[in-house]
Amino acid sequence: MKVFCATLIHETNHASPIPTALQNYREDFLYLPSSGEGHDWQGVMLDGVDWGSLAAERGLDIAWGLLAGAEPSAPTDAASCRRLRDELIDSLKQAMPVDMVALFLHGAQVAEGVDDVAGDILAAVRSVTGVEMPLGVVFDLHGNISGKVVQHADAALACLEYPHVDFQDRAGQLLDILTQAVQSGCKPVTIRRRVPMIGTYYTTREPMRSLVDQAAALEGRGGIAAISLVHGFAAANTADCGACILVCGTDPGGAEQLADTLAERWFAERLAIRSPLLDATAALDQAFVSKCRPVIVADTTDNPGSGTAGDGTHLLRALIERQPDVPAAFGMIWDPIAADFASRAGEGARLQLRLGGKAGHASGDPVDLLAEVECVRENATQMVQGRPHPLGLTATLRCGNLRIIVNSIRQQVFDPACFESMGVRIAKQHVIVVKSMQHFHERFAPIVGDILYAATHGAETTAASNIPRPMWPLDEPPFMAFGRNWS
Ligand SMILES: [Zn+2]
Repeated sequence: MKVFCATLIHETNHASPIPTALQNYREDFLYLPSSGEGHDWQGVMLDGVDWGSLAAERGLDIAWGLLAGAEPSAPTDAASCRRLRDELIDSLKQAMPVDMVALFLHGAQVAEGVDDVAGDILAAVRSVTGVEMPLGVVFDLHGNISGKVVQHADAALACLEYPHVDFQDRAGQLLDILTQAVQSGCKPVTIRRRVPMIGTYYTTREPMRSLVDQAAALEGRGGIAAISLVHGFAAANTADCGACILVCGTDPGGAEQLADTLAERWFAERLAIRSPLLDATAALDQAFVSKCRPVIVADTTDNPGSGTAGDGTHLLRALIERQPDVPAAFGMIWDPIAADFASRAGEGARLQLRLGGKAGHASGDPVDLLAEVECVRENATQMVQGRPHPLGLTATLRCGNLRIIVNSIRQQVFDPACFESMGVRIAKQHVIVVKSMQHFHERFAPIVGDILYAATHGAETTAASNIPRPMWPLDEPPFMAFGRNWS
């Protein structure tokens, strides 16, 4: 049995100052089937999914399609998006005949002139495969899933966990669903129920944890193959923004009923699942008096993993002005110029630096400081969803008890190696600020005392004018949305 597999991942932030072209994908991962460029990416864990090992474990032959992913940023330019789409579709045409098609898409990808890249791609794929071939897709739970997606995909499911530690499991589950469909000749359907809310929901906390566990426990029973709680991504700013429930199964009636029940239950928990955000002052006050050391403070507003620049200074300035009398660390701020200056000055040098605040208004003003260069590395890396990512030229700057990690390849903090490999021992810090919304949690939670989430200013908070209304928390229920009453 032969499966065609392709990956196209980009989380689009409409307010991001970072332009997005084919080169952005090349800098993360890009295999172009037409030329063979980047063919080494086949069989590598890419954003948490390795189609090669999944197919091999199941005895499936694999036909490789496009593999492309870029760090979250502004909408992809029209020509680059067209190229990526054409590469995917042309590689499918070349691969035919196949028995089934499995895709890994983000779901919140927007391009110039295309608000719903996932729906657009699935429609094009369907026009190649015909209506009979099983077609499925795995999404990031931050996708905004359109009606077009479930019109064309037989099986659509998202990761369940945030941090997204289950992509590989979900992609394997998709292959099993598609294989079953080929063998039985009975294709599943996917029911989508929109839930009129948008926000950040940590599955590491209750009651979100239990909601996910309860949904997962229903999979595999009564013709239900997969259930997904899709959180949505507000910064994409499209008409499809918002949460939804996806239920994939071979019993459409049962799937409809279950989707209704889960949508109502999720909405009813909306106040309890809100992210526990503190302002910068409150977060730092609480962190510095905490006895549960070290305390992580997540700089959720400037999270490069959501498409912001990563050179925001709001929380950094608050930390510097506090002049900590205990060890504290901040990482990573994206500033290739400052990293270059620190490298040229060399370890042990003291220099006056202007740090961050360059990419756009949301980044805040640059911070001027006198710092000692404590460590410089050209080849530091961190593990990101199963793959080592280069941090670029990276430096540790010391100002009194505060150590600041400056790097030159924009990305959020996933891994304690961002600090440890730069000479900053996690266990010795009292407070550590990380630029990340939640993905740090997987590897930091086991080794730190407490975790706080801080919000300041940035692209994440900009107005989202295309989001359908009413939508909680922009609007207060009771209200009518998506054809039903919500209270
Ligand atoms: Zn996500």
